Amino acid sequence: MHTPKKIAIVGSGLVGSLLAVYLRKRGHEVDIFDRRPDIRNIEFSGRSINLAISTRGWKALDRVGIGDEIRKIAIPMNKRAIHVLDEPMYFQFYGKEGEAIYSTSRGMLNRKMIDLAEQEGARFIFESKVWDVTLPEATLHVGDGPKEAWENHQYDMIFGADGAFSRVRHRMQRRSRFDYSQKFLDTGYKELTIPPNTDGSHKLEKNSLHIWPRGRFMLIALPNLDGSFTCTLFMPFEGENSFESLKTEEEVQSFFEKHFPIILEDIPNLMKDFFKNPTSSLVTMKCFPWTYWDKVALVGDSAHAIIPFYGQGMNAGFEDISVLDDLIDIYGDDWETIFRQYELQRKPNTDAIAELSYRNFVEMSSKTADKEFLLRKKIEKWFSGKHPDKWLPVYSRVTFSDQPYSEALQIGDRQAKIMDEIMKIPEIEDNWNSREVEEKILELVKISD
Ligand SMILES: Cc1cc2nc3c(=O)[nH]c(=O)nc-3n(C[C@H](O)[C@H](O)[C@H](O)COP(=O)(O)OP(=O)(O)OC[C@H]3O[C@@H](n4cnc5c(N)ncnc54)[C@H](O)[C@@H]3O)c2cc1C
Repeated sequence: MHTPKKIAIVGSGLVGSLLAVYLRKRGHEVDIFDRRPDIRNIEFSGRSINLAISTRGWKALDRVGIGDEIRKIAIPMNKRAIHVLDEPMYFQFYGKEGEAIYSTSRGMLNRKMIDLAEQEGARFIFESKVWDVTLPEATLHVGDGPKEAWENHQYDMIFGADGAFSRVRHRMQRRSRFDYSQKFLDTGYKELTIPPNTDGSHKLEKNSLHIWPRGRFMLIALPNLDGSFTCTLFMPFEGENSFESLKTEEEVQSFFEKHFPIILEDIPNLMKDFFKNPTSSLVTMKCFPWTYWDKVALVGDSAHAIIPFYGQGMNAGFEDISVLDDLIDIYGDDWETIFRQYELQRKPNTDAIAELSYRNFVEMSSKTADKEFLLRKKIEKWFSGKHPDKWLPVYSRVTFSDQPYSEALQIGDRQAKIMDEIMKIPEIEDNWNSREVEEKILELVKISD
């Protein structure tokens, strides 16, 4: 049984808009507040941060029938293209044949999601900043001017989908026994653009996520529909090879000549992009609880912001929504139980993806160019191909399945121990695909099961 409720969502980002579609399909009245103007009316080049959508994201989109609309604005990437300095570029396929992650522009995706939620009947209220929430009454305090001028809007229920620096969470933080932690990475990022060729084609291989790993820093590039690539330079804020060390055009020019010579000619606006675009920070935020009785719940980044190196932040936020929907199926109108089960189920999983994302940061920046690491990956892939029932690499579990992240992390740890043993086999680089290695892995898998 589902009684229609009057629900407010704070934040019309990706997760808030998806939640609006779900709630409208269940017959609830939905208002979405956002402090920003309507991004559909803002002039937009079509280029912005790119996000990779993977299985969990698609599952949540398909479940309410909007996946195909989003596929129209996404480009499949079935591999990494690795550009090691002074070596030929090579490919690392992500998964099995047919498996890919999908590059999409955050701006385009958000516009589309707002359109879709609006078509379902959700009401968007833009340029309305939520300053505070009265939790027991599910009341929003909204406004631009002084406190006395704030408007109060009361609802049956409020969802905080207002991102990593959530105001809704901020109010919950002031309650007793609310756990909260926030950790910034000493690495920041800056966006650069590789424009299309004059005929509109892509300058680099289109269906790949390109990586130029350089140890403590790296450049990545994801394709856009207009033939351009959005590049992100991840680099420490301070020290050698840092944002702080690149203050003048000469310093930027010689840094790129030394570390990314091949790409240099593909970024004609390097200086403009570099000095105009901000250097942004990356944060992991954890908190608990995520809900207040049957009145308020956090979803997406407001509950669990992670660093982007597994490409899972939005996917995990979308999964929050499919998990909530599963719980609504089970518990009907009992929102207190739905909220309690939701936070208990999701918390260990979002903690696990936070950990996996950190590990992938180390892997992408320093290990993708490491010979031993590549051999490990090659052996894993070979063994997994022969025994798919016994070995699915952790990347595939996270990206191409909806197995709980916490299980993927645990299994990944077990697999890492097995691979540590395998790498000790004498002359493993020559015998990596031998019967002996296969049997040894089978034996270790059996012991660890
Ligand atoms: C460089 C980078 C790359 C990434 N790559 C990927 C990727 O490949 N794959 C992936 O899955 N994820 C990726 N992510 C993560 C992804 O961007 C986030 O997880 C996702 O955007 C979170 O969505 P959200 O709706 O929870 O929050 P947000 O997108 O932050 O939206 C929050 C909304 O709330 C509004 N808001 C905030 N405060 C208020 C207020 N007080 N009142 C009213 N409105 C308010 C904001 O205006 C905004 O519209 C990446 C992140 C970064 C930084």
